[in-house]
Amino acid sequence: MSDNSLKFAVLPGDGIGPEVMDVTLSVLARVGEKFGFQLDFTCADVGGIAIDRHGTALPESTLQLCRASDAILFGSVGGPQWESLPPKEQPERAALLPLRKAFSLFANIRPGLLYSELTDASPLKSERIPDGIDIVCIRELTGGIYFGQPKETTDLGNGEKRAVDTMVYHTSEIERIAQVAIDTARARGKRVCSVDKANVLETSVLWRSVVTEYFKREAADIELSHMYVDNAAMQLARDPNQFDVLFTENMFGDILSDEMGVICGSLGMLASASLGAQNNRLGKPFGLYEPSGGTAPDIAGQGIANPCAQILSAALMLRYSFGLNDAADAIEKAVRTAVTGGTRTADIAFGLPAVNTAAMADAVLQALESAV
Ligand code: NAD
Repeated sequence: MSDNSLKFAVLPGDGIGPEVMDVTLSVLARVGEKFGFQLDFTCADVGGIAIDRHGTALPESTLQLCRASDAILFGSVGGPQWESLPPKEQPERAALLPLRKAFSLFANIRPGLLYSELTDASPLKSERIPDGIDIVCIRELTGGIYFGQPKETTDLGNGEKRAVDTMVYHTSEIERIAQVAIDTARARGKRVCSVDKANVLETSVLWRSVVTEYFKREAADIELSHMYVDNAAMQLARDPNQFDVLFTENMFGDILSDEMGVICGSLGMLASASLGAQNNRLGKPFGLYEPSGGTAPDIAGQGIANPCAQILSAALMLRYSFGLNDAADAIEKAVRTAVTGGTRTADIAFGLPAVNTAAMADAVLQALESAV
């Protein structure tokens, strides 16, 4: 491996995953030529295809490859073929949750970006978002009710069952995700809205007091506000741009970030980064980078999926795990130029003739020539 090569694992997954990954690697290779780095990636099976070939959604060989890499570029996993498996063995639960755990991927960063030229893609009225949408959701990803113990179903033997999930947070977990929100806000509008349910939940009372103290101590330059999650869900649909950085715990973030995805239009445009607790060999956060959408079984195999979310996820990988901000900027600018210039896949075409995955990626490659 030469000094300027980027070592990452490529896990395309199922459905449209391999289709959009393929063209993304071409875009990355071209950016590498322009910015003087080489790609040193290895592909491995994950999700449904891994169940079919190896009997498990996250084979040990795939995990080993990820451990030997500085980042993971992930497609998406799942599909109707595997929906009859027991829930614990299904691709998303059996691949993504263990990956999050193995690499302590505690910080999920989802840009909610809708170009002003694409406001038709949003279910919100265009007059509410004349300049599009530009917010970021920071979600805690390894704590809270998804991981707390006990988590079990007990047969009470009288015809009743009882199920328990446990919501738990520690001060240190709250502080480390607060720091990610602060770093994100410092690079943007310097405003953070912390979302909780402190009128009902103990974990939220702790969350609010830790966040308040931490910001007072570490981030006097950032404007902090608090909002209950039910109000935040309404405000996102009413006026999303009132937020700069939306910051919350695991389950609230799961729901709010999906709502944000809907108001931002097509899932085909939305990227995400999940950063780990450990740094990679370059001293940058190890991360997993993936589109916000799933495997889109309704269009898989047709070569018509929008590759932009996967391409933008690769840009996030360059930015966070490799510190290549200029290269990341160039990709983001090229995607914007291609899409606003009128090259659109069906999900964002709105009356324009729709192009296929390959043509969309070609337009991004072409825009790259002038972006650099
Ligand atoms: P989905 O995101 O796959 O699809 C929802 C809609 O968005 C579909 O109409 C689809 O065609 C469209 N869409 C999504 N990405 C697109 C793209 N790049 N270009 C154009 N259109 C796109 O959600 P779903 O239908 O609820 O789930 C399908 C499968 O994906 C399920 O098995 C689910 O478990 C899985 N899934 C995986 C992940 C992941 O791997 N992180 C996330 C969500 C869903």
